[in-house]
Amino acid sequence: MVDGKYLSDAAHFPGGHAAAIVVPRTTAEIPDLVRHATAVLPIGAQSSLTGGATPMGEVVLSTEKLTRVLDAGPSHIRVEAGVPVAVIQDTLAKHGAWFPPVPTFTGALAGGIVATNAAGAATFRHGPVRPWVQALTVVLADGTELTVRRGEQRARGHRLAVATASGTADVPVPSYRMPDVVKRSAGYHAELDMDLIDLFIGSEGTLGVITTVMFRALSPVPTRALALVPCQSEPDAIALVAELRREPAVAAIEHMDRRCLEILQEDGADGRYDVRFPPGTALALLVQLELPPGTSEADAFTQIEASLTAGAPETAMARVCRLLNAHGVFDDTEMALPGNTRRAEQLIAVREAVPAGVNQRVGRAQHQIDPRIAKTAADMIVPFERFGEMMAIYRDGYSSRGLDFAVWGHISDGNVHPNVLPRSYADVERGKEAILYFGREVARLGGCPLAEHGVGRHPVKQALLRGLYGDAGIDEMRAVKRALDPEWKLAPGVIFDR
Ligand SMILES: Cc1cc2nc3c(=O)[nH]c(=O)nc-3n(C[C@H](O)[C@H](O)[C@H](O)COP(=O)(O)OP(=O)(O)OC[C@H]3O[C@@H](n4cnc5c(N)ncnc54)[C@H](O)[C@@H]3O)c2cc1C
Repeated sequence: MVDGKYLSDAAHFPGGHAAAIVVPRTTAEIPDLVRHATAVLPIGAQSSLTGGATPMGEVVLSTEKLTRVLDAGPSHIRVEAGVPVAVIQDTLAKHGAWFPPVPTFTGALAGGIVATNAAGAATFRHGPVRPWVQALTVVLADGTELTVRRGEQRARGHRLAVATASGTADVPVPSYRMPDVVKRSAGYHAELDMDLIDLFIGSEGTLGVITTVMFRALSPVPTRALALVPCQSEPDAIALVAELRREPAVAAIEHMDRRCLEILQEDGADGRYDVRFPPGTALALLVQLELPPGTSEADAFTQIEASLTAGAPETAMARVCRLLNAHGVFDDTEMALPGNTRRAEQLIAVREAVPAGVNQRVGRAQHQIDPRIAKTAADMIVPFERFGEMMAIYRDGYSSRGLDFAVWGHISDGNVHPNVLPRSYADVERGKEAILYFGREVARLGGCPLAEHGVGRHPVKQALLRGLYGDAGIDEMRAVKRALDPEWKLAPGVIFDR
């Protein structure tokens, strides 16, 4: 009897079923499990938003019991694949260190964040998961256990040689050009002379089962502060963000559009978390600051007070306040200063209340209006200079189809999530059509239509990938898969079909 809890992921992709569920307690069990299976889906916390962690008849290989921290210090941590991000962070904190690219959902597991090349708010300053992966142990489809260390094995031009139990696999590196943006979770990484480790990062379980990971870590841990900044118009906000991006203390800037603010009000979240948006607020920014370690609340307060005084010491806090003042938003900005954990949690909770509010509305519509209604959203990124154009495209694309929608996300990266608020199944269909159009436009602007969540099994995401790289690009990915997994054993149907 298969335990139903493994049959769905956070995307609620329909039709999940499995041949069996295996939950190894040691990494040593995995080569044999994979060798003897006909189809295997490795899973982590199943927080995938793409259906990639929903089984479709495979043996589900859950990594949840692989929870050993193997080694940790101020500059690294080595863990088994099932260690949650929150544990990575807590363990590093004991060494005065931290792991910057954490996704919002800190219950995601080490193997899962590597398999999807996840990204987080601080990716703007510190990059996605990829550059933080130093080494991996991966079990290939034939049971070969491979240890890959960054910098040790590179492609020769467009060929990668991978030593397997059955000989050397000659892997053809695809020739497509990846969009030049900070977040990309869009099929296989491919570049001239690429590092073998980069092939496995972001491969969504289709090329190997990740069993251990060594991440780089940063120390010391910076002191954090937050600023909630209401803006009167989108152009004002974009102009402010463009300047804040140049300030080294700014780690991330999140964005909530007018519809998001209405949702907060409709749900009473503004009152619950005690935030006020002045009349006429068109959108709100949540700016995350990394201040020098040891900056106290009192230090920050003094720096803010002095910021507008001529001759005040040049500190990050002072520079940020001067910028906010120059843009006319200083008086309406609310800060959570270092040490004020409660206020910081409230400001973050306000931001998180937006996707929660949208997901609740989608769920309600599904129950009350039509069971076919589903979350209809995109996860796209453009170079920041094209952000205003991208927002106009989202607005026109949704409005011209008569859709209600909300947009929020990581404005500092040029990556936001345009979500439909469906009132009928027809809205979902029109929303999907709009998202495919957005994908073409985003690619035209030099961006990537699949930024942080991956491709998974979602038909729209798979179509976006095909739109980005063309049929030829998908065929090149299939050739990579064929070289390492000729029987199409690992995560079949994820990223592309056979
Ligand atoms: C509330 C919420 C917030 C989120 N916020 C973010 C965010 O800020 N940024 C972001 O990038 N994502 C975010 N996500 C999406 C999700 O958390 C990430 O994609 C995460 O990286 C998935 O990790 P997981 O352990 O849950 O993997 P799963 O969902 O279990 O698996 C995801 C994919 O990875 C493969 N996989 C998992 N483990 C392994 C392994 N050991 N070896 C090989 N393949 C494996 C699976 O086959 C599947 O294709 C969010 C999701 C939710 C629900």
